[in-house]
Amino acid sequence: MFKAIVLNKTDKGLQRELTEVPDIDLMEGDVTVNVEYSTLNYKDALAITDRSPVVRHWPMVPGIDFAGTVIESSHADWQAGDNVILNGWGVGEVHWGGLAQKARINGDWLIKLPDNITAKQAMSVGTAGYTAMLCILKIQQHGISPDMGDILVTGASGGVGSISTRILSNLGYNVIASTKPGKESEYVKSLGAKDTIDRAELSKKGKPLAKERWVAAVDCVGSHTLANVCASIKYGGIVAACGLAQGMDFPATVLPFILRGITLAGVDSVYAPKQDRDAAWACIAEYLDLETLEANTTEINLDDTIQTAIDLIEDKLIGRVVVNTKMSAS
Ligand code: NDP
Repeated sequence: MFKAIVLNKTDKGLQRELTEVPDIDLMEGDVTVNVEYSTLNYKDALAITDRSPVVRHWPMVPGIDFAGTVIESSHADWQAGDNVILNGWGVGEVHWGGLAQKARINGDWLIKLPDNITAKQAMSVGTAGYTAMLCILKIQQHGISPDMGDILVTGASGGVGSISTRILSNLGYNVIASTKPGKESEYVKSLGAKDTIDRAELSKKGKPLAKERWVAAVDCVGSHTLANVCASIKYGGIVAACGLAQGMDFPATVLPFILRGITLAGVDSVYAPKQDRDAAWACIAEYLDLETLEANTTEINLDDTIQTAIDLIEDKLIGRVVVNTKMSAS
C-alpha cells in the first residue's frame, strides 16, 4: 500500500482525498519509482480544484512531476537505485502522477536527476522551472543577448515567472517583471528583476501596436496581457508564450508580426522531446542558484496538498511549493 491524493468524479461532483492505495492498482509501465518529492503546479491546482478539465481518466492521482528513485525496472535505460525526474507526458492528467508515494510509468518519460541536484531541489525547480528554461532557450536561440535590451517576464511572481526572472538575471539580462505591486513586486526584485510594472498595465484591451519596449518576453499569462506584450516587442524580437493564467484567449492583431517581424514562440513542456529536456535540466543545473530557490520554497506534505492547491488557484501563494510525499500526518 502507498499514500496518494486520489481524485474521482461522482454524481456529487469531484471527490478528492488522501488515501491508501494498493500497489496492484498502479497503472501500466516498465519502471516503478519511489516518489520522494513532487511540486504543486498551477495545472495540479486546476485538477485538484476541478477548475479546468485537466484530468481525462478517472480515478486520477494528480501531480504532473516528481523526483525519486527507481525501485523496479524492465526498461533498458533504468535500474533499481537510479535517481530520476519526470515532467509531463500526461502524468497527472491521463496517467497516475506524482502526488503519491509511488508511481509506475513508461521509462521513456524519465530523465536522469543531474548529479549536483537533490530530489527536493529538482522539485523546487519543478515543471515550472523546467518550462522557464525552455522559454529562455527559445529566446537565446533567437539570438537575443543581454546587451540588446530589456526582457519582460509576465506572471513574474509565479513558478515559471519567478524562475525565469532568476535565471535570466543570472545570465546577465535586464529583467522587467510584470506583477502585482506590493509584496510580489518586492519578491521579484529580490530574485534579480531590475524593475517592475503593475500587471494591470497589460491586462486590459490595448492597441494593436504600442511603443516598442522589450526585445523579448516570457509570457505566463495569455489573453490581453499576451496581446499587449506582442504589441510592445521591439522590431525582430520574440515572445516565448507558455501560460494562460489570465485566460486562454489571444485577442491580438497580426500587426506586430507583419510590421515588426516579431516571433511568437509556443512552449510546451509536456511532450517536449528528450533532447530539449536534457538541455533544459543541464542549463538549470548550471545557471540556477539552488540555494536562493530553496530559500523561497515551502515544503508541505500530502495532507496539506488539497488546501494549498486551493490557495494557489486563488493567487494567494508566493514562492515555490514542494510536496514531501514521505511526510504525512495521517
Ligand atoms: P503560478 O500560479 O505559480 O503563477 C501564475 C502567475 O500569473 C501568478 O503568480 C500571477 O503572478 C499571475 N496571474 C495569476 N492570475 C492572473 C490574472 N488573472 N491576470 C494576470 N496575471 C495573473 O503558475 P505557474 O507559474 O506554474 O504557471 C504559469 C502558467 O504557465 C499557467 O497558466 C500554467 O498552466 C502554464 N504552464 C504551462 C506549461 C507549458 O508546458 N506550456 C508548463 C507549466 C506551466 P503575478 O502576481 O506576479 O502577476
